[in-house]
Amino acid sequence: AKRSGRNNFKFYTENMNSKFMKNLDLENKMRQALKNEEFYLEYQPQVNTVTKKIISCEALIRWKSPEFGTISPDDFIRIAEDSGLIIPITRWILEKVFYEIKKVIEIDPNIYISINISGYQIKHSNLPKMIEDVLDQEKIDLKHIELELTESMLMDDILKNAEIMSKLKDLNIKLAIDDFGTGYSSLSYLKKFPIDKLKIDKSFIDGITTNEEDKVIVKTIISMAHNLGFKVIAEGVETKEQFDFLKTYNCDEIQGYYFSKPVSIEKIMEYLEENTFN
Ligand code: C2E
Ligand code: CA
Ligand code: CA
Ligand code: CA
Repeated sequence: AKRSGRNNFKFYTENMNSKFMKNLDLENKMRQALKNEEFYLEYQPQVNTVTKKIISCEALIRWKSPEFGTISPDDFIRIAEDSGLIIPITRWILEKVFYEIKKVIEIDPNIYISINISGYQIKHSNLPKMIEDVLDQEKIDLKHIELELTESMLMDDILKNAEIMSKLKDLNIKLAIDDFGTGYSSLSYLKKFPIDKLKIDKSFIDGITTNEEDKVIVKTIISMAHNLGFKVIAEGVETKEQFDFLKTYNCDEIQGYYFSKPVSIEKIMEYLEENTFN
């Protein structure tokens, strides 16, 4: 999203400024960080609105650098995309999740983990093949994996992306559309893709108890998505008021600080064992 990677690169080489030097350095630092295991994952529960049971968890990458401290993925994912480093990073994420998921499946055999996939990854690598390679190393049933893709990414090359998605579906992977509502797509074109779930972007959830327009948008997304056979999850739910609104309008699942911040896999195991949110 919101980047024009190669163009940025050109711009900076023509104007040898400090920002470029800084970015070049970060890219090398990130390469080292991958080797030195400075990245780790946190997981945020996705909770059924009615039963308040954890259905799945979203894996979110973290970078703790001895030099820079904690860097937000909002800052480093863009650099990882511009440099192509997102490909080995995603491979690392897949390996890590396939390994860690085994611990939670033992507690809940129906649980799955959602992994964010960036547009660069879809465009410049063979994602289904990468997943099969990781599977050779770390055997799991892929029904325990969901991928989150953004709508703008899909619009980029509809035919090619529909084909990639049907390959992923053939592997039994679940597919969700992330940040839904922020792109320029209509719900009806989504029928072209084998999608399981829509994630309503936090920016709409922020306004659902105060802003009439956001209320209407969220209600409409939920009912249209259901008519098309998709499940709906709301992200960034922070308050009881937001939760109650979403429950009233039959949003299937909730993710946000209202239930939990992103936490370690060990904490997720505790949540599951104690059935915490009930
Ligand atoms: P996203 O996919 O939309 O992820 C949701 C973000 O909202 C996460 O931020 C999460 O920690 C935060 N969040 C969840 N609930 C709440 C809430 O109730 N209130 C507030 N204020 N925030 C909430 P995070 O972890 O900093 O990630 C930011 C973005 O970085 C993600 O947005 C995603 O686009 C990207 N990202 C994170 N991890 C990965 C990854 O492993 N791979 C890729 N490609 N991108 C990632
Ligand atoms: Ca996401
Ligand atoms: Ca999201
Ligand atoms: Ca978002």
